[in-house]
Amino acid sequence: MPVNNLGKTLEQQARTALDRVIDPELRRPITELGMLRSVEVDDAGAARVSVLLTIAGCPLRGTITGDVERELAAVPGITSVDVDLDVMSPEQREELKTLLRGPGGARGIPFSRPDSLTRVYAVASGKGGVGKSTVTVNLAAAMAVSGLRVGVVDADVHGFSVPGLLGITASPTRVDEMILPPVAHGIKTISIGMFLDSNQPVAWRGPMLHRALEQFLTDVYFGDLDVLLLDLPPGTGDIAISVGQLLPSAEILVVTTPQAAAADVAERAGTVAAQTGQKVTGVIENMSWLSLPNGERMELFGSGGGAIVSERLGSVLGYEVPLLGSIPLDVRLREGGDAGLPVVLTESAVQDGTAGGELRRIAQGLARRPRGLAGKSLGVTPRG
Ligand code: ADP
Repeated sequence: MPVNNLGKTLEQQARTALDRVIDPELRRPITELGMLRSVEVDDAGAARVSVLLTIAGCPLRGTITGDVERELAAVPGITSVDVDLDVMSPEQREELKTLLRGPGGARGIPFSRPDSLTRVYAVASGKGGVGKSTVTVNLAAAMAVSGLRVGVVDADVHGFSVPGLLGITASPTRVDEMILPPVAHGIKTISIGMFLDSNQPVAWRGPMLHRALEQFLTDVYFGDLDVLLLDLPPGTGDIAISVGQLLPSAEILVVTTPQAAAADVAERAGTVAAQTGQKVTGVIENMSWLSLPNGERMELFGSGGGAIVSERLGSVLGYEVPLLGSIPLDVRLREGGDAGLPVVLTESAVQDGTAGGELRRIAQGLARRPRGLAGKSLGVTPRG
């Protein structure tokens, strides 16, 4: 068997190359996940690889095969690649789940454990149509592009729009009771819409909503996340209360427009969240103005709503609730949403006065805020 100048056989080089094949859903190398059953390279340089998929009919089999072929073809000396796909046995899947969930396959909601380092933001609004979902996905995309590991839960059961805004058409993959969320623009995303027949109206009552959210948070495998964003339904309904119970450490972001009437309902949404013991981190005003060709700002929906909500919430809650930013009306923001490509990904720099620039700036601020360690286990024990 020929060796390279580091003394490695072609087979060893092939294994190293396969470390670079990342499972698209689990976002870890297939070699770590027990998905590489075998790799052989004969004297003529012909490679035969056997890959174990998590489930039969895995929708991403084509992607994985292509990635294996590409990585191996790049190894000098390998002349051909033959990929054989098989499916994990129940025992192998069990091993994988243990690997992912940790010893004992811990169940429950990972983000509500005291030692969780994931920052959870629940995005709330008083009423629909103020741009809450648009803001959520753009903040998520801006954080993901800056290198954070980001997940989004679309909990807006009556108006789920997150998959469309992120251009996701793929369905989640089920590995037994574990659900693997589709990934778009680096964001792991799960939506109630992915579990429903298209365009069927949802007429769920409170307890069902609570169960659905609990199942999302328990069964969906997000892996280690830096930030989880939840797109809440508008108003002060059952889901907000469920979030309070299921994710007590979630912080609330309130989205409102400059309009006085919108500000009133937004304030109520913020106050309810606080009754569940959650912190309101700040207010985001959306649709604040429209830049006219002559450079003037036209205030289509009036002005001051964001500042009013911030001030009133601050006095009700007894701590500062800052206005984190004001986002203008911007055709590109709407177009990005329609195209499934958040505008923050197509505008390269933080630009003042554009919706994308302002959203990036807000995302940077939220990502930078120090994570409070109060009450968190640091995993250290006193010596001796
Ligand atoms: P919500 O989640 O509050 O119901 P959406 O995010 O679905 O609201 O936004 C409602 C509509 O307004 C969408 O068509 C969206 O593209 C558009 N939109 C939201 N914010 C802006 C903005 N700043 N400029 C232009 N269009 C916007």
